Amino acid sequence: MTATEYPLRQLYFYLTEGCNLACRHCWLAPKFDPRADRYPVLGVELFETAVREAKPLGLGAVKLTGGEPLMHPEIVRLLGIVRREELGLTVETNGVLCTGRMAAEIAKSENPFVSVSLDGVDAETHEWVRGLKGSFEQALEGIRNLVEAGIRPQFTITELARYGVSSAEPVSPDMPLALVDLPNGDDAPSYYLGAQNFFTITRYNRSSFYAMAVYELARSLAARRQVPEGSGS
Ligand code: SF4
Repeated sequence: MTATEYPLRQLYFYLTEGCNLACRHCWLAPKFDPRADRYPVLGVELFETAVREAKPLGLGAVKLTGGEPLMHPEIVRLLGIVRREELGLTVETNGVLCTGRMAAEIAKSENPFVSVSLDGVDAETHEWVRGLKGSFEQALEGIRNLVEAGIRPQFTITELARYGVSSAEPVSPDMPLALVDLPNGDDAPSYYLGAQNFFTITRYNRSSFYAMAVYELARSLAARRQVPEGSGS
């Protein structure tokens, strides 16, 4: 058996046993740690050594998970090593610590993949599973920060269907999508599937309402262009 025959393409790093949420389903039996200083973390030197030794075996990517990987006190250093070694990056996070600064740090890697867990379409469901009040809005804010930093929507309609999401209009099975919620005051929010064009609009203005207004305007213009001549305005 040789490294070429069976390359070691990806390493999973469980960066910490601690987590800032207390999910009912967590197989780590969760070690709730909002302060990030009570549970063991993976040392930076060990991380670096593992990467260095795995590269000749074919290592091309790492996945950072936990516990909550963004709680690692040296996460910025670890992300720097991933970049320096030109490795692909996947981060599995609950999104709570995806601040604008952290999202920008992750986005410095080439084509990073970030998986943010949402366990329902509303705070009540998500927080019942996740065990912490406010974590739903924090996860959404984390996703917004990631999109703002340039990390694109990456779910296909098939993946979203597993969470009970379906589209009112036909969607290409390969099209990357994101679920966008638009609050309606006291009424239930409206949900839309945003594709790459929706993401592009939010480069100019981060508000989903703005992007939706641009989208609706474009649809109206397109509809007017299809009105036959002489049929009035
Ligand atoms: S966010 Fe992940 S690691 Fe943290 S308690 Fe929930 S399932 Fe466990």
